[in-house]
Amino acid sequence: MSVQVENIRKTFGHYTALADVSLAVKSGKLTALLGPSGSGKTTLLRIIAGLEHADEGSGQIRFHGEDVTHVPAGRRRVGFVFQHYALFRHMTVFENVAFGLKVRRERPARAEIADRVHRLLKLVQLESLAERYPSQLSGGQRQRVALARALAVEPKVLLLDEPFGALDAKVRKELRRWLRRFHDEIHLTTLFVTHDQEEALEIADEVVIMNQAKIEQVGTPQEVYDRPASPFVYQFLGNVNVLPAAALAGAGAGRPDGGGLVYVRPHDIEVVPHAAGESGLPAILRYIHAAGPQARLTLEQVVNRETVEAEISRAELDRLGLRANDLVRLRLRQSRSFAEDYAI
Ligand code: ADP
Ligand code: MG
Repeated sequence: MSVQVENIRKTFGHYTALADVSLAVKSGKLTALLGPSGSGKTTLLRIIAGLEHADEGSGQIRFHGEDVTHVPAGRRRVGFVFQHYALFRHMTVFENVAFGLKVRRERPARAEIADRVHRLLKLVQLESLAERYPSQLSGGQRQRVALARALAVEPKVLLLDEPFGALDAKVRKELRRWLRRFHDEIHLTTLFVTHDQEEALEIADEVVIMNQAKIEQVGTPQEVYDRPASPFVYQFLGNVNVLPAAALAGAGAGRPDGGGLVYVRPHDIEVVPHAAGESGLPAILRYIHAAGPQARLTLEQVVNRETVEAEISRAELDRLGLRANDLVRLRLRQSRSFAEDYAI
């Protein structure tokens, strides 16, 4: 089921948490809502779930075209998983998942509940742990129980708010891959909140980037990474150099479109020797960091002495035979310019 968010505004006193946000979440896809802390992700998710209400008269939430703006949370058929495991400590894994079924208005018969709980536990690969208590599980297992419980109501939409946020890095990586495979099996429309760029880019079909109560860009991981729509997205999604367009144009270093500032990722910079007749922005190589598959070069622009980072393959580094303090020229393969006063 698709979700449409239209012109949603949410203020807390004088503070604007969502400034007329509109978004279309595609049916059956895994969408990541990515943004720094405080950008409004949780607020948006809670409004979609019906746990929070938008400002009076501000806009609409629609599920598959149907207006649910004033439908209570319990009747939206939404599954919700929070960052902090909200499992009942005095209940077993089985009972925790069964709880999701028992609170439904048309409560299924006992035998059916047992059958459904076992199917859900199988789905999240926790069948053998049905009789354990939450304290006897790892963090990752607890979140999978929370997911099974959220799925018990047979939701049409699954909302996950930083579900792996409290887990350590290694478990997070395992779980996000697991979630991707899981999604490929069930194809449930899922909105996944994270502030972790790598996590969003790795698992999502589509990434929605939020900043300061607004959506900055929506696209596939490749689109948002390769063609950031704003200086914020450039900087949020990876390393970027900011160079003056005028200096680049003068040096024939690329095709910066117009004036202002040019944004270029380190791996989109080509480093060439400073031979006679070569075009490109002149720079002095200051450091070579050659540990790892790629070599990272720290360079200093001749025109203004500002730093530029470039990333080239180890093979390319060997071929160029570069050493510290060599003079080189830089050309841009892919870049984008923004007006100088474009606020980040
Ligand atoms: P995120 O999930 O992206 O970190 P939130 O949606 O939780 O951001 O919060 C966005 C902003 O709204 C934050 O600055 C937060 O302090 C504020 N905010 C959220 N909930 C409330 C609330 N109940 N009362 C007052 N301010 C709130
Ligand atoms: Mg949050």
